[in-house]
Amino acid sequence: MRVSRCFLPVLKESPADAQIVSHKLMLRAGLVRQTAAGIYAWLPIGFRVLKKIEQIVREEQDRAGAQEMLMPTIQSADLWKESGRYDAYGPEMLRIKDRHDREMLYGPTNEEMLTAIVRDDLKSYRDLPRNLYHIQWKFRDEVRPRFGVMRGREFLMKDAYSFDLDEEGARLSYYRQLLAYLRTFQRMGIQAVPMKADSGPIGGDLSHEFIVLAPTGESEVFYDAAFEAIDWNQKHLDYTDEAGLHGLFAQVSATYAATDETHDEARWAELPEERRRTGRGIEVGHIFYFGDKYSAAMGLKVSGQDGNMVTPMMGSYGIGVSRLVGAIIEASHDDAGIVWPEEVAPWQVGLVTMRADDATSVDVAEDLYARLTAAGVETLYDDRDERGGVKLGSMDLIGLPWQVIIGPRGLAHGVVELKNRRTGEKIEISPDAVVGRLTS
Ligand code: ATP
Ligand code: MG
Repeated sequence: MRVSRCFLPVLKESPADAQIVSHKLMLRAGLVRQTAAGIYAWLPIGFRVLKKIEQIVREEQDRAGAQEMLMPTIQSADLWKESGRYDAYGPEMLRIKDRHDREMLYGPTNEEMLTAIVRDDLKSYRDLPRNLYHIQWKFRDEVRPRFGVMRGREFLMKDAYSFDLDEEGARLSYYRQLLAYLRTFQRMGIQAVPMKADSGPIGGDLSHEFIVLAPTGESEVFYDAAFEAIDWNQKHLDYTDEAGLHGLFAQVSATYAATDETHDEARWAELPEERRRTGRGIEVGHIFYFGDKYSAAMGLKVSGQDGNMVTPMMGSYGIGVSRLVGAIIEASHDDAGIVWPEEVAPWQVGLVTMRADDATSVDVAEDLYARLTAAGVETLYDDRDERGGVKLGSMDLIGLPWQVIIGPRGLAHGVVELKNRRTGEKIEISPDAVVGRLTS
């Protein structure tokens, strides 16, 4: 992509209304614009990041055996009256009336809708287990939308819903999502620690929030340093390996991690002082087992192996896809701007000419741009007639993992500069070697 043809509105100054670094950087680097309180438009560069995050979430959900679908944003209030949540949900729900005066709402979540969709078609124990998910916009009329996309009113969420014959099956579905979450966040280049969460009226140990550590996080967190040594990816572990999944859950449960809501002073005190870590964190995901709460209320039943009717056990599993854009920036930035982990970067390489009036530089840049593009390397080419320093400043701000910097001084010696955005390390390299280096 050529910067000269991009809509990439980069701001020099920090917007006054932004309080935290990720919000400031998202506005300055032109990722989003607010269109109403807590509601954002995703500009091209932000949209590219959002799509990359969404795709990682999708691939890991699919690998874990969940199946993608798409449910609408607008729901009928009748569904929520069946579960009893229509009144319970409160003012966070955006309630709408259609022209026939029917009560509708903009969905804050989809337990009711999916339970209603599957209840006529899941008929027997042979139809279970199932896990269905979608990646769809939600609306919650937050009292205090703030921190940009981190606490918006309209936000993109992945929500998955599992249906199992019994609690043992539901536990396995839960463990599979736990593993999928660990892999998902690791692929995005961030560490999200699973912390025991309040599991509400059902009790039990099956609710975890996934927390990215960052000083601006909204919750206070406490965890055992042993968490830092856990192999999050668990490459050896297969989703069909039930004993392995139980083992992973046992390991996670045995390692202390809690938010202020579930913090247990007695267990905390047992930890050796040097292993106690405290800080603040951002909730990027939440998984939850709730048994037959919705299936019972909404009449979902299947015939069991012995012919008796059985109420399936359910869980739901959310990831804040749009919140993650902000959370990743909170966890990965420096004074000059964003530092994108490669897997979610809007482009891999930024190509910059220091002197747009130097014909040789432009020739080399055009040639490299064509070759990188042909090799499938996502490249943002700053071909504008701007001062080199200005272009480098916006490249640092945008935070692509690599920069290729082309100027007459280097070219006189047959080299260009290759800069690693994260380390700041620069090497001189011949233009011919750049593509090979970036594709190896
Ligand atoms: P929070 O405690 O932050 O209000 P929640 O517990 O109400 O979130 P869940 O119902 O667990 O949220 O939703 C699943 C995920 O959706 C959360 O883990 C979070 O990442 C994301 N999310 C929830 N509310 C918002 C919001 N207002 N803006 C952006 N993302 C959100
Ligand atoms: Mg939550």
